[in-house]
Amino acid sequence: MITTRLRTRLRFPLAAVLVAVAAALPGAQTFDGQRDPQPAEVDLAIVGGLLIDGHEGPPLPGAVVLVEDNRIVAVGSRDELTVPDGVEVVDARGMTILPGLIDAHVHLDILGHSDYQHWHGRYRDGRYAEIMEISTRQLLMSGVTTVVDLAGQPEALGPLKDRIESGDLPGPRVVASMGWITNWSDEQVARHHRRSHTVNVRTVDEARAAARTAIAQGAGIIKVHTGLTEAQLRAVGEEADARGLRITGHVGTRDDLLMRIRAGQDGIEHLSLGAGSSPAIAPEVLQGLVDHRTWVIPTLIQTTIQGRAVEWPDWRDNPRVRALTPPAIWADIRRSIENPRRFGYFGGSLRVRRIDEMGAKLRQLRDAGVRVLVGTDSGTPLNFHTDAMWQEMDLMVSYGFFPMEVLAMATRRNAEYLGRGDELGTVTRGKLADLIVVDGNPLLSMRDLRHVVTVVKDGRVYTP
Ligand SMILES: [Zn+2]
Repeated sequence: MITTRLRTRLRFPLAAVLVAVAAALPGAQTFDGQRDPQPAEVDLAIVGGLLIDGHEGPPLPGAVVLVEDNRIVAVGSRDELTVPDGVEVVDARGMTILPGLIDAHVHLDILGHSDYQHWHGRYRDGRYAEIMEISTRQLLMSGVTTVVDLAGQPEALGPLKDRIESGDLPGPRVVASMGWITNWSDEQVARHHRRSHTVNVRTVDEARAAARTAIAQGAGIIKVHTGLTEAQLRAVGEEADARGLRITGHVGTRDDLLMRIRAGQDGIEHLSLGAGSSPAIAPEVLQGLVDHRTWVIPTLIQTTIQGRAVEWPDWRDNPRVRALTPPAIWADIRRSIENPRRFGYFGGSLRVRRIDEMGAKLRQLRDAGVRVLVGTDSGTPLNFHTDAMWQEMDLMVSYGFFPMEVLAMATRRNAEYLGRGDELGTVTRGKLADLIVVDGNPLLSMRDLRHVVTVVKDGRVYTP
């Protein structure tokens, strides 16, 4: 153990360098000199890794995180905190400790099969709960400790959440929208593969009632799809606001997008942003997003995965998915993705949302200071729950976001978006014990997030 005098001599120059680096990063925080005291009770210690705590300040080498029951009770360095004898220890030396990842957009009822009609026809009835159990295991073992499910079946999601919360089933915390609210024609509803969890409304009163029903079913967020009028959206918004819930969803035309921003929709899913086939986001849209502090969840990976799958044929034999999917279901998925060029699902997206356009739009958002989050749409064709997060985060870095910023989007900023910032999103004393240990350093390469070696969720340790 290093002496106090030596430590003081060593720390100040190092701290000065780190503070200087931190000051160069947007939103960065610096050391405040506060250290957590040694807690009386500890039953789990994560020891020796480089800690990136989610606050966007400098990482802490040789960190110790102490956990009691399901809470983090102290965070510090090895010479500041003692690991009591007899506690469970996770050795993180040479690795990185991060807050558990939060995916702001997943679909637990799908596993990457290329044909929705086939998939839902075959698995919706009877096997729905089984599919969701596979999804939740895949996500947790990939380091995702909280997910936002945007359009699952309420009857199945309620029991699933209960089983995960009781510790009976390994899975992330599930914040669910309990279906989605639309204002579509009867024909549009009948055609949709998710018609059984589409709540279609025609009047303002129906819109309000739909929001109340979702909330009564346990919704932690409200999802609105296209077609809603401003009055309908505002009625949904009043119900959500009264319970501190966010509203998010798809948008249609540019006018529809501007209306939603004005009406206070909190989140905008996908990067088309009312731009249609135009390569740029209109100035009035950017201004609206900034003025109303609207969050944007671009789901970059969902729109580029087809190109990647064509480029990397090995993708179809993804060993991580195979290991975490029952053989018969994997065989069905595997057959469906044999030729990714043929997927009807991507018909329009490759033409309209070209990859270079996406990069340009993302840079517009970044330069304007729009609040961007990490969500993957995982479960959609080829977009496997096991890999969606690291791919999305890697793409964000490739489009010019700082790695530290992207890590914060996937943790602290997503928690704040969900209104759970006081409990989730950072490795901080008093918060829920959701964290991961990664073999590598995602500040150097986001691809290192593929190597999650330990997941702690709610104080429980899982080894993928
Ligand atoms: Zn989606």
